[in-house]
Amino acid sequence: MNKPQMITVLGATGSIGLSTLDVVARHPDLYQVFALTGHSRLQELLALCVKHQPQVAVVADEAGARQLEAGLRAAGLATQVLIGEQGLCQVAADPRVDAVMAAIVGAAGLRPTLAAVEAGKKVLLANKEALVMSGALFMQAVRRSGAVLLPIDSEHNAIFQCLPGDFSRGLGNVGVRRILLTASGGPFRETPLADLEHVTPEQACAHPNWSMGRKISVDSASMMNKGLELIEACWLFDARPEQVEVVVHRQSVIHSMVDYVDGSVLAQLGNPDMRTPIAHALAWPARMDSGVAPLDLFAVGRLDFEAPDEQRFPCLRLARQAAQAGNGAPAMLNAANEVAVAAFLERRIRYPEIARMIEDVLEQEPVVALDALDAVFAADARARELAGQWLNRHGR
Ligand code: NDP
Ligand code: MG
Repeated sequence: MNKPQMITVLGATGSIGLSTLDVVARHPDLYQVFALTGHSRLQELLALCVKHQPQVAVVADEAGARQLEAGLRAAGLATQVLIGEQGLCQVAADPRVDAVMAAIVGAAGLRPTLAAVEAGKKVLLANKEALVMSGALFMQAVRRSGAVLLPIDSEHNAIFQCLPGDFSRGLGNVGVRRILLTASGGPFRETPLADLEHVTPEQACAHPNWSMGRKISVDSASMMNKGLELIEACWLFDARPEQVEVVVHRQSVIHSMVDYVDGSVLAQLGNPDMRTPIAHALAWPARMDSGVAPLDLFAVGRLDFEAPDEQRFPCLRLARQAAQAGNGAPAMLNAANEVAVAAFLERRIRYPEIARMIEDVLEQEPVVALDALDAVFAADARARELAGQWLNRHGR
């Protein structure tokens, strides 16, 4: 029998991290946890260490490390504790590791995810912001190192499943006409436009179909998530922005589709549960049980489709513009969005101001080429600075 694969879970305390560990724990003969990382949820990280017995755990700072070490000792565990970004990069690239789940949220995940890519790991990519920020450099690093990049985002995992195995020859060369990226429309799909001024973070985070972290939940409400996913799809599948069409499908049963030149449209369906794409990517090219219940089409009953309303979802337009502008525009869009979402969650701005802030930030800076990682972080920092100034002028 083969030796179990060693897995690092970056962002283990989050929604994707927990779903990953749920799948991994169903197959102890196939997978073993090498490292778990957390940031603010130290008690949860300790409990995960007790359950999964990793060799290494990573926390944000010294104080966190001392607290976690005390808990580990009390539980009789010899887990080594590392700190900060350097620790994250170390467990992502460690020679003992086979596969890395990249599930830190936001720009904070970029360096650790790239460290896994550069070390040639099997990289399970949930952290879409990392790819959106650094697309060209990220994909170059994948090609250079021979890393195996597998999409976890349910839409991209679906597209990957519907594409032929040799899609990297170019979509045109394998007969693909369009990618149909499905979107649920989130909690505000039918909210009267005038009421959007008053929606709360709690309402934005109450997604009708998916249970997720707070940042991606707000992104789903604004459809910035779909905008980031459009950019993500362009990089993963070497597509032009105009080859990716967004289709609102409120049941979230079809996770995306591929439209071929002969008129065939292939779709991947399933219950909205992230354990399906996680199990798919972990086991790829084989298949294994994920713990997800079989899809009951009689209970689903019907599948609806509609075009996205860009007046209701201006973030989708902003993201498409950034995808077309390329270069540093997606990194700036992402950074401005991270600041805006955090400010909305802290009730410093109203929901419609998320899009206004991002649009103002993007209008203030010329689009520059990003030829190195330093330039990516400079674009990210500049957008955060402009967004901070916007917040000082308009925020509460
Ligand atoms: P969560 O907020 O639930 O989890 C985020 C994880 O990142 C936590 O482990 C958190 O640690 C850690 N983290 C946060 N900030 C930092 C930091 N500065 N440094 C290091 N670690 C940090 O998010 P999700 O699991 O929902 O999402 C994770 C990623 O996956 C996102 O990029 C999201 O877009 C993507 N994704 C998520 C989906 C979902 O269904 N949830 C679906 C598709 C994509 P702690 O909690 O300890 O603070
Ligand atoms: Mg998604």
